[in-house]
Amino acid sequence: MTSSTYTKDLFVGRRRETREVMIGDVGIGGGNPLRVQSMTNTDTRDVRGSVDQIEALAEVGCEIVRITVPSIRDAEILPEMRAELAKRNVGVPLVADIHFTPNAAMLSVDHVEKIRINPGNYVDKKKFEVREFNDADYEREIEKVAGRFRPLVLRCRERGVAMRIGTNHGSLSDRIMNRFGDTPLGMVESALEFLDVCEGANYHDIVFSMKASNTQVAIQAYRLLAQRLDERPMPPGGSYPFHIGVTEAGDGEDGRIKSAIGIGALLEDGLGDTIRVSLTEHPVREVPVAEALAKRAFKIWVVDAETTSADCITAYTPDPFGYTRRTSKILNLGGLSVGASEPVRVELDLGAPPMNDLDDWAAGHAKSIAKLRDVECESLQVSTAGVLEPGILETVRKALTAAGLNQPLAVACRDGADLDADNSAGFAALISRVVVDVRNDSTDDDCAAAATFAAKVDVALEWRVCGEVADLSGPIRSAATASREARLTRLLFSTNTSRQNHAARLLTAELAEQGLAQAPIVLRHSIGVDADSERATIDMAIDLGAPLCEGIGDLVSVSGSRALDQTTDQVYRVLQGARLRATRTEFISCPSCGRTLFDLEEVTARIKSKTDHLKGVKIAIMGCIVNGPGEMADADFGYVGSGVGRVTLYVGKEVFVRSIAEDQASDRLVELIKDSGRWVDPA
Ligand code: SF4
Repeated sequence: MTSSTYTKDLFVGRRRETREVMIGDVGIGGGNPLRVQSMTNTDTRDVRGSVDQIEALAEVGCEIVRITVPSIRDAEILPEMRAELAKRNVGVPLVADIHFTPNAAMLSVDHVEKIRINPGNYVDKKKFEVREFNDADYEREIEKVAGRFRPLVLRCRERGVAMRIGTNHGSLSDRIMNRFGDTPLGMVESALEFLDVCEGANYHDIVFSMKASNTQVAIQAYRLLAQRLDERPMPPGGSYPFHIGVTEAGDGEDGRIKSAIGIGALLEDGLGDTIRVSLTEHPVREVPVAEALAKRAFKIWVVDAETTSADCITAYTPDPFGYTRRTSKILNLGGLSVGASEPVRVELDLGAPPMNDLDDWAAGHAKSIAKLRDVECESLQVSTAGVLEPGILETVRKALTAAGLNQPLAVACRDGADLDADNSAGFAALISRVVVDVRNDSTDDDCAAAATFAAKVDVALEWRVCGEVADLSGPIRSAATASREARLTRLLFSTNTSRQNHAARLLTAELAEQGLAQAPIVLRHSIGVDADSERATIDMAIDLGAPLCEGIGDLVSVSGSRALDQTTDQVYRVLQGARLRATRTEFISCPSCGRTLFDLEEVTARIKSKTDHLKGVKIAIMGCIVNGPGEMADADFGYVGSGVGRVTLYVGKEVFVRSIAEDQASDRLVELIKDSGRWVDPA
C-alpha cells in the first residue's frame, strides 16, 4: 500500500495533478514546469528602483515578480510602472501583494496578472483579542468577510486575473486563532473560507500557499491543504496549484537550508507548482536557490513517473499533519547514546583510510574538526575495501586517537563475507558498531555471516540497505531474518539510495512489519563531487531534513569531499532547520519588501554580530508589523519596524517597548535578552 491522503505515492515522487492557472502568459500547475518567482524589496512608489529590480529579476530567470501594494497610492503608481516595464521590454507577469487594503486590491486588478491576498488580514483587523466565537458569531463574521471579499473575486474573474490565497502562519485572524489556534488546521481553514467565496462566484483561477517560518508547520499545512482540497468537489480542470515556500527563512546558509528542507520535502511528495525562496538578501539571490530546488524536483518527477512503486506490505502511517518522533530504543555506541529521546547524533564518515601516511590523514581531519566552535562531531566512521583486519583497525584507531579524535568509531564493510568472526579478538574495544551493506543480490549466507560476526564479537550492527527504493524491501527482510536468527538486539538500519526521503519511509514501514519497529535509524548523506555548490547544500538539507521533519532518524552520518568542519557545521544547521536540535541562535528574518521600514540586511547583520552566540535563542527581525506579532509565536524576542526609523521590541508575542529610535534598538534588544535571563557572554 503506497497511497496516502495528501500525496499520490509515499515511496515515489509523483506530482500532484492540478488545473493550469495562467499568470499572464505564464502557466502555473497542469503540465507546466515548476515556476520560479520572487518579490521586490524596493519602495513601490520608487518606480525606477522597482522597475530596475523587476528587470534584474527577469534577467536571472525569475518568471513571476511580486510587488507590495500597501495603499491606494501604491496601486495608483502601477500604470506608470507597467509603462516603464513595457518601454524596457520586460514582460514578466506581476503580482500585487495585498494586506489589509481591499481598496488597493480592487485598483490593482487592472494592472497586474495576479493578486495575492492574505486571508488573515484581507478583511479582519488583528486586535489580538481572546474572544469566544459561538457558531452564530462565527457565521456572521464569515458573511462579513465574504461581503468584503466577493467584489475582488468578481473583478478578478471579469478581468481574467489570477489570485493567490496566501495564508501565513504568523498572521491568522483573531477569529481563526480563537477557534483553531496557530495550527496547520487553522491555516487551512483560513484559506478554505476564502475559497468558498471564490467557488461561489464560479471563479477558479486560484493558487494557494501555506507559509510558515517553522519548516514542520509549513510542511504539515501544505499536506493538510492537499488532503482537504481532495475531499471537496473537484473544480473544473482539476484542483488548485500550490505556491510553496518557507517564510522568513533568514539569510546565508541557514536561509537556504531552512528553505530547502521545507520546500524540498513538499516537492518530494509531489506538492508544489511555483516556488519562492524567501531570503533576507537581495531578491536576485533567491532565484538560483529556487531554480536548484525546481531542477532537483522536476528530475525526480520525470524519472519517478516511469518508476514502479515500492511493494510495501504495511502502509507507512505517521501523522503527516503533526510531528511525532518515531519511537526507537536507546543504544550505547561506544559511549554515545543513540535513539529514543536522545538528540539526533552527528557522525562523519571519513571513508577508507590510506595505506600510507595514516598519521597525516588523521591529523588533517583533527585540524579541520578542531575549527568547530559551537558544535561537535560525535562519532566517526571509516570503511574497509576488503576483509576487516583487527590489526589494520587498531592502527587506524591509534592514529585517530593520537590526533585527538577520540570519538566512537564505526567501521563499514561491503558485505558479511568481509567479516571473519574467528579473527576478531579485540574488535569490540576498537569499534562502536560495524556497518554492513545488504543489497538485492546479497545471499542469505552473507547476511548470516554479518549477523554471526556481530553476535560473536558483541558489537552493534548497522545494516546499510542499498539499492533503489522499489528494491529495498527484500534486503531489509533478509537482514531482519539474519538478525533474528543470530538473536541480535543491538541493531540499527540505514539506506543508501538516490531517494533518501522515500527510502526512510519504506525502511520505517518494513521494520515495523519485521518486528523491528524500535531499531534506531541512521540517515545517510553523501556530499556530491561539486561539494561547495549551493546544490550540495540543498541536497543535504532535503535528504536529511525531510525525514527528520517526519520524525525519522536517530543519527545522521555524512560522507563526501567537503572539509569536515564545514560538513559538521551544516549538519547541525539542518538539525536546527528541522527543529530538532538547537545549537545556535535562530534568526527568523523576513526577506523585506516595499513595506520594510529599515535596511533588513544591515539590521540583521548588526543584530547577528551581537547575538549569534546565544544557543537556542530565537530572534525575529521583521521589516513591518504585517506578519510581525504573529511570527513572534515562534520567536523568543522580536525586533519589528513600526514606523520610519522606529522599532518595537517584543518578548514572545507581547510588546516590550513600543516605537523606540532605531539607533538604540539593537542595544535595547541585548538589554532585553539580558533582563530575561537568556544572555550569556560570548566565549
Ligand atoms: S514582514 Fe517583511 S516581507 Fe513581510 S510585509 Fe513586512 S517588510 Fe514585507
